[in-house]
This record gives sequence, structure tokens and C-alpha cells, in this order.
Amino acid sequence: YEAKRNRHHVSIYRAGMDRFTPERLALHGELAQAIREDGLALVYQPKVNVHDGKLAGCEALLRWQHPERGMISPVEFIPMAENSELIRPLTAWVIDHALAQVRLWLDAGLNIPVAVNISARNLLDADLVGLVVDSLRRHNVPPALLELEVTESALLEDPETALSRLTRLHGLGIRMAIDDFGTGYSSLAYLKRLPVQVLKIDRTFIAPLVTSQPDALIVQSTIGLAHSFGLQVVAEGVEDGAILDVLRSMGCDLAQGYHIARPQPPAAFEAWSREHRSA
Ligand code: C2E
Ligand code: MG
Ligand code: MG
Ligand code: MG
Repeated sequence: YEAKRNRHHVSIYRAGMDRFTPERLALHGELAQAIREDGLALVYQPKVNVHDGKLAGCEALLRWQHPERGMISPVEFIPMAENSELIRPLTAWVIDHALAQVRLWLDAGLNIPVAVNISARNLLDADLVGLVVDSLRRHNVPPALLELEVTESALLEDPETALSRLTRLHGLGIRMAIDDFGTGYSSLAYLKRLPVQVLKIDRTFIAPLVTSQPDALIVQSTIGLAHSFGLQVVAEGVEDGAILDVLRSMGCDLAQGYHIARPQPPAAFEAWSREHRSA
């Protein structure tokens, strides 16, 4: 699926593209339309328990099926959404569709927690909590089945507001995760004060795990400290079995990456999980 995506992949968001070029405005309008008319789609990537291999949950990742440009990656359009008011309806769309999917799975007898990525802007938005509560209620999904992933940098932009939002969200029973950990400048000491339950180690530390002693030391000590704070640790970007073996020996909790499975549309994800369970 990813390979197909890459083949049709077109770069649309160039660094330095001015805010109000005609091209940029057109794209902005097209994204607004895609949000309104379901031109977006979610793909789901499993997270598995490193020790017993069992499916532990999934991450919902956004795709834009552009009528002319093909499949567009979120790294191409999320920044544009974040620089405009579009990030609000976009995140609302993602949360709503991810929870609708969890409801379909529940109705089919599958209990699969979903993690959704939210932006710094969303965290600072006073509407976020209400939006999440409303969507959970409409789809009748227990809050414990929703996890929200926030990057370190999102927390550092306005630490006070971030802390109060995280506290409200966690108070609802939602799990909060720090995404791409290690790429920002926050310390574990700062994270200790946050109502966060999950730490995802960035894939730039995971990929060289087997060959680079410094990276192995960083990952090992991050896992140790995170555990001493009671956090669950997820390794992202696990691309081969040797990495998974090292993570297991280090006591990492969950793993996510191409070695396990690529992000896939719901039907393919379900087929994967059925096969995975019987394997
Ligand atoms: P992320 O949240 O860190 O998501 C993980 C990214 O790594 C995904 O890229 C996933 O496809 C990719 N990945 C997973 N396993 C592997 C692996 O083994 N090797 C490598 N090289 N990559 C792997 P994707 O789907 O292109 O998303 C990129 C980023 O876009 C995400 O990073 C997240 O920051 C953002 N994003 C995606 N969906 C959403 C969304 O719904 N809302 C927001 N605000 N951001 C989103
Ligand atoms: Mg993420
Ligand atoms: Mg990540
Ligand atoms: Mg990332």
C-alpha cells in the first residue's frame, strides 16, 4: 500500500512556498473541500506487544486522495493545515472517523484501541475537549480505547495550556502519548510532571539500534527512565527482526513499524490482524 502511495506521490508543499500564492490558496481550498466531502482517508498501523507479539492497538494515519494529484502524504499538507484554521476541522474529521472505525470493530467483536495524532494548535484550542467528548459519545466508544499522540514541541509551545488540556483529556479516561520522543528538547524530568501514560521513541533512534552503540544507549536509558516513571514505551519505525530482538532484550513494551505491518486501509488491517492472531 505504501509503495503504491509513493509511486503516485507528488510533492506539493515546498519549503518557502509563500502563504498566499495562488497555488497555495487553491490547495488550501481543495483541502477544505476534501474535509467537507470525505476526500480524506485513514490508514491503520498496528502496535504489537514486543514480548508476546499480540496486537495492542493501532495508530490512525491520515491520507488525502486528491482527484488529480493522487495520494498526498500528511507531511505535505498537515503543515499547511496547521498554519491556517483548517487544522481544527481536519482533526475533528480524523477523531470522528477513527472512533467510527473503533465502533465498527467493537460491533464485530474486536477490541482495538486507536491512537490519533493531534497538532500543537489543537492542544491550544479550547474546543478540543468538547469535540473529543462529543465524538466518543456519538460513537459510544469507551474513552480508554482512544489515545492522543502529541509531539514534544507541541507541549513546549505553551506548557501551561498544554498541561491543563492534557489534564482534562486524561481526566476523561483517554490515554495521552508523547510522539517522536527524543527529537525535541524536553527532558524526562519535565514529562514526569505531565499526565502522560505513553512514550513513543522516535524512529531515528530505533533504526540504527543494532549498529550504533550511542543510539542503543539512548534507547536503553529512555526505556529505563520511562518505566521508572510508570510510562509505557513504544518503539516506532521497527524495520527488521534484529531491531525487535534488541528492543525485547531492553524491555521495551510495544513496537510499531514496517517489519510488523505497514499502515493499511481498514479491510487490509483486519485481514492482517486475523492472520496475525492465528500465526
Ligand atoms: P508519526 O505520528 O510519527 O507517524 C509515524 C510515521 O512513520 C507514519 O508516516 C508511518 O507511516 C511511518 N512509519 C511507520 N512505520 C515505519 C517504518 O518502519 N519505517 C519508516 N521509515 N516509517 C514508518 P505518515 O503516515 O507519512 O505520517 C507522517 C506524520 O504525519 C506522522 O508522524 C504525524 O506526525 C503526521 N500525521 C499523520 N496523520 C496525522 C493526523 O491525522 N493528524 C495530524 N495532526 N498529523 C498526522
Ligand atoms: Mg504518531
Ligand atoms: Mg511518531
Ligand atoms: Mg513522526
